[in-house]
Amino acid sequence: MRAVARGARGRWTGWAGLCLLPLLLGVERPPGLADVRDVRHWSYPNYTRVVVELSSGVDTTVKRLAADRASGKPDRLYLDLPNVWVGLRYADPIPVGDGLLRGIRLGQNRKTATRVVIDLQRYERHRLFRLSSPDRVVIDVFGSGARRSESEERAAPEGAPKARRGAMAPRPSPPTVIRDIHTIVVDPGHGGSDPGATGVGGLREKEVTLRVSRELATRLRDRGFEVHLTREKDVHLSLEERTAFAEGVGADVFLSIHANAAQRRGAHGIETYYLDKGHRRHSMRVAARENGVPASQLDDLQRALAGLKVSEMSQMSARLAETVHGSVVSGVRQTHGSVKDLGVKRGPFHVLFLSGMPSILVETGFVTHPQEARRLRSRFYRDVLAEQIARGLSRFRSERASRLAGRSS
Ligand SMILES: [Zn+2]
Repeated sequence: MRAVARGARGRWTGWAGLCLLPLLLGVERPPGLADVRDVRHWSYPNYTRVVVELSSGVDTTVKRLAADRASGKPDRLYLDLPNVWVGLRYADPIPVGDGLLRGIRLGQNRKTATRVVIDLQRYERHRLFRLSSPDRVVIDVFGSGARRSESEERAAPEGAPKARRGAMAPRPSPPTVIRDIHTIVVDPGHGGSDPGATGVGGLREKEVTLRVSRELATRLRDRGFEVHLTREKDVHLSLEERTAFAEGVGADVFLSIHANAAQRRGAHGIETYYLDKGHRRHSMRVAARENGVPASQLDDLQRALAGLKVSEMSQMSARLAETVHGSVVSGVRQTHGSVKDLGVKRGPFHVLFLSGMPSILVETGFVTHPQEARRLRSRFYRDVLAEQIARGLSRFRSERASRLAGRSS
């Protein structure tokens, strides 16, 4: 499944409500401001993600304004980006028209601030987070009935009387912790212009991850899971696209497949990560590589992580990681004799923290290690990996199912 941005539908007047400087006539761009580089959006049935890419990071919050019938302004969210210049670049609003969002408008609200306005058609809650390399602000808007994670917030319109508790609440969907495990998103790491790690004999991580993932998808489908791959080809996907995809298909588990690399040629083994605030120096190095940012820029991510209540999801992810990891290590030992067990670890991975479901990242071996590179090239080894990951997931599903049965009896 792909996110589809559909064209505008119905009457949407665009600029109503965004107070532009008087058309910026005669306004000089002040020095030292950042730029808006791009605005992207992805639509799903109950969920739309808007990404504003900037030339440097900003602090911002999202506010909501109620519809104003008199002036024809729709219900809307807005955020001000301080020290950002957009000028008249987005003089034409961006139509969305997907049933949740009418469209997105950007304008120079003050000489030194850009305002982003998201005109709403249907709204239940939103969440905001920031990413770096490149710097971007991500706003997810959910319609009623979509699954909620603890990091999401619901904004009452400014100036509106506070809704009675529960008055706006949709029919709640069961929290992930007691859901059955059925839909799996398999995420082959890297792809397209991002080859991931390059190892012995030019072995490229992006090729290994796609091959293992395809085989894994087949084996999971054989076991009755519904499986979606974030990519089926050699294409580049941003981290937010990968996780938006997982939330869009309503996945119960997110599984990212990678291959490891180290400067030290002797490094080898298999390790599995899940998202948690606690992590060691080694995890930071791997996370920096997999996130595609220098370790120094992980500070931002750690700050974001500190603001999320990840404990409950971490517990499930930890259990998932242990089950899958144990299955992989024991399976490879049976078929290949030996493999170093580097263990289950905690790390700050973008690709994991953006998904509101149990999520793990499996490092299937080192492309920089001669023997493991040979293994990763072999179909037999990749089949063993896929089979053992699938077995681990099946075991995890059975555990969840028996816990569910225990609760309802
Ligand atoms: Zn990777």
